[in-house]
Amino acid sequence: MTAMQTKTPATLLLLALLSLPATADPAFERCIEQLRVPARSAGVLDATFTQHTRDLRPDLSVIERLNHQPEFRTPIWDYLAGLVDDERIRQGQALLAQHAELLERIQQRHGVDPAIVVAIWGVESNFGQTLGRFSLPQALGTLSCMGRRQTFFRAEFFAALRILQAGHVEPEQLVGSWAGAFGHTQFMPSTFERLAQDFDGDGRADLIGNPADALASTAHFLRRAGWQTGQTWGFEVRLPDGLSTAGEGRRSKRPRHEWVARGLTLVDGSALPADLGQAGLITPAGRSGPAFLLLRNFDALFGYNPAESYALAIGHLADRLRGADPFVTPWPTDDGPLSRAERRELQALLILRGHEIGAIDGMLGARSRAAILQEQTRLGFAASGRGGQQLLQALRRPAQSTAQ
Ligand code: CA
Repeated sequence: MTAMQTKTPATLLLLALLSLPATADPAFERCIEQLRVPARSAGVLDATFTQHTRDLRPDLSVIERLNHQPEFRTPIWDYLAGLVDDERIRQGQALLAQHAELLERIQQRHGVDPAIVVAIWGVESNFGQTLGRFSLPQALGTLSCMGRRQTFFRAEFFAALRILQAGHVEPEQLVGSWAGAFGHTQFMPSTFERLAQDFDGDGRADLIGNPADALASTAHFLRRAGWQTGQTWGFEVRLPDGLSTAGEGRRSKRPRHEWVARGLTLVDGSALPADLGQAGLITPAGRSGPAFLLLRNFDALFGYNPAESYALAIGHLADRLRGADPFVTPWPTDDGPLSRAERRELQALLILRGHEIGAIDGMLGARSRAAILQEQTRLGFAASGRGGQQLLQALRRPAQSTAQ
């Protein structure tokens, strides 16, 4: 007897209902249909539009993410420790060696060095291991008809449909972040249309299936954002006592002689590079933490993802891939950050103590933080919900010495 024959009519009805797409939403369907004409004006053929919107259902989880207000502000040292850790440096160095010839050709074409390209690859998708799980037509269709920024997302929706129409990627492969960034280096569809490259010459710019296309496209982006070949992004500096950093920043760049006159040196005390051009000063964690002089290339990295912490992570990871040391000046905290390996260890210790935090993924999300909060309270620590070295070390001690 087959399994099929054991099913009752009621079971079959239930199975039929379960196999339907999510509940139909007439308002959403009307909105999508109303986009057909503007899509046509934007170069999306009717057949393309019909093919990719026919069974489209809104994905409300995308709107939840759009509206999400982080209740927890990640300190910059935690942000950097998760992105620039030994694991990512090791993997990045292995990939630099593995793809040396490809990266050399990309450098010849665009003038961007291999370590920077690989650093972006590592941060954007963990070297292609995390490309995102959202169907772009569904996510961008939802964002085109619901929530804030519909005008912005409609342009991205139409761009995604044009990318499918041009045959660069198969529809079922076009998945990415909830906001529509996709591929090994997470391009938005409109960025794809401006800058994506078919580097291997097979007729398609495939940022999902082909790392060569994705890495060349990223180098192309940086070149167009003003990347200066052979220059660094910036470096750590030492500030003289009493120097005010008020009013300084990435955009208020000064010539070398002004920084020298103010007493700045490299972090080891040696003179600033003789060929230093215009540079801006940042102190991401305030006057007592590390300080950096930023050059023009930092702005190109900032253009990729407009956050100074992001650009700093990329620049620093690239330096570390080339063998440079960690920052010299400590971050202003007595509870140091955790690498991803240590975050996984912390999660395993939380599970051992009975907390239900889901899978061990090295990302301290809401459930991990709730468990951390309980452990901090139990141990008499400040209840911050943040996982740092102090809690990890406390939980590593044998259970009898910490358990009540
Ligand atoms: Ca290609």
